[in-house]
Amino acid sequence: MGEFDVAVIGGGPSGLMAAEVLSAQGVSVHLFDAMPSVGRKFLLAGRGGLNLTHAEPWDAFVGRFGNKAVAVADWLNPFDAERVRNWAQELGIQTFVGSSGRVFPSEMKAAPLLRAWLHRLRHAPVPVQFYMRHRWVGWSDAGWVFETPQGPVQIKPQATVLALGGGSWSRLGSDGAWAYRLQQRGIQVEPLQPANCGFDVVGRSGRGWTDHFKHKFAGQAFKTVAIRWADLDGHLHHRQGEFVVTGTGVEGSLIYSAAKDLREAGLRDGQSYFELDLLPHRTLDFVQAAVAHPKGARSLSSHLKSRLGLEGIKMALLYELLDTAHLQNPQSLSQAIKSLPVRLLRTRPLDEAISTAGGVALTEMDTHLMLHKMPGVFCVGEMLDWEAPTGGYLLTACMASGHRAGHAVARWLGQAQKITSE
Ligand SMILES: Cc1cc2nc3c(=O)[nH]c(=O)nc-3n(C[C@H](O)[C@H](O)[C@H](O)COP(=O)(O)OP(=O)(O)OC[C@H]3O[C@@H](n4cnc5c(N)ncnc54)[C@H](O)[C@@H]3O)c2cc1C
Repeated sequence: MGEFDVAVIGGGPSGLMAAEVLSAQGVSVHLFDAMPSVGRKFLLAGRGGLNLTHAEPWDAFVGRFGNKAVAVADWLNPFDAERVRNWAQELGIQTFVGSSGRVFPSEMKAAPLLRAWLHRLRHAPVPVQFYMRHRWVGWSDAGWVFETPQGPVQIKPQATVLALGGGSWSRLGSDGAWAYRLQQRGIQVEPLQPANCGFDVVGRSGRGWTDHFKHKFAGQAFKTVAIRWADLDGHLHHRQGEFVVTGTGVEGSLIYSAAKDLREAGLRDGQSYFELDLLPHRTLDFVQAAVAHPKGARSLSSHLKSRLGLEGIKMALLYELLDTAHLQNPQSLSQAIKSLPVRLLRTRPLDEAISTAGGVALTEMDTHLMLHKMPGVFCVGEMLDWEAPTGGYLLTACMASGHRAGHAVARWLGQAQKITSE
């Protein structure tokens, strides 16, 4: 393996960005990953179009990081959404802003971007060396220990960047197994939890969706609906969009936007809920008048369809969650159409989540992302304790933290060398 300065462990977007910054400064970097190839989750993100970043104003952007906004803004400052777009363009990938402000590569794919990125890293004046199927498993007296198909390998770099990802989609490499290793070194790691995740519903019987509803509607989307929910401080939030019915509950972008609050409420109260507005463009008065209109010989379904355009999955959900008494009472039916409580039992498991909340406590690191307790070891990306909704914020913050740590490692090496030569 020869002499080298820095080990980057983990080849997702945060580790690759740290490697890029370091190699550009003439630092020799060896990048290790447990999988046969790097960037597997990045490629998976490409299946949904690869939402690289978001074009909204700075204050709104950093606000997405909630109570970690100040810390994350510090990394984002030199590597914000515009820099992400410029960086992609330098790699030959044009981006565009979608109608919601989300930014995507023109081709909506991750593979061409990853290919161009790896080509640049491998052909830099000081090329990054890649070591695949190297799973970091801990430390020995001789340094960092990896399991490889050829047996154990040990390395002792001057500095190390840990970019090990969160704890979801473990088959793509990010299994969260690093958490207990760092805890053994006395480093505080907040419990890894699902973020941007689906939920299991309670259902009217208390046992989830009925078989009828599940078989007929799993995989179908609620379009043009709105949800209302409360955060732990009791503040009400309201958002319009889409979500999807799953075999056990709900998932999709509208649910992810509320997932942090719904997860936290569930942990505190045992269950959580949101209120679903099936007709956000209609007022309650309008709905009440329509429902109360004499329906003659028509069934309730055809009455609601002709008066309010309610049909399909929206109509089915009313039958799924309301009992006959509520369905037959125009007042409570109207109320339910505008604010139907959907009770949630639990989040789906961490492994299914888009991203992970929790991780290395930010207080364990200095502002350059170096661990106080392990000088020369830096942590970046999703393995840190922050979370954000979907919308390109995850990739942007991961790359910004890699960028921050890359510069910091180069400075730290310079200082370390100065001290050694003095
Ligand atoms: C389905 C899906 C869609 C997504 N879509 C988007 C999107 O459109 N926009 C967006 O912003 N975000 C999206 N994300 C989230 C985004 O992909 C992640 O936040 C991002 O990849 C995290 O980057 P990372 O570098 O921190 O970690 P990862 O990308 O998870 O990389 C970590 C790397 O570390 C390696 N590793 C882990 N443990 C070890 C070990 N012990 N030894 C050696 N190597 C190890 C892994 O093999 C992996 O290569 C999506 C995620 C999913 C699951």
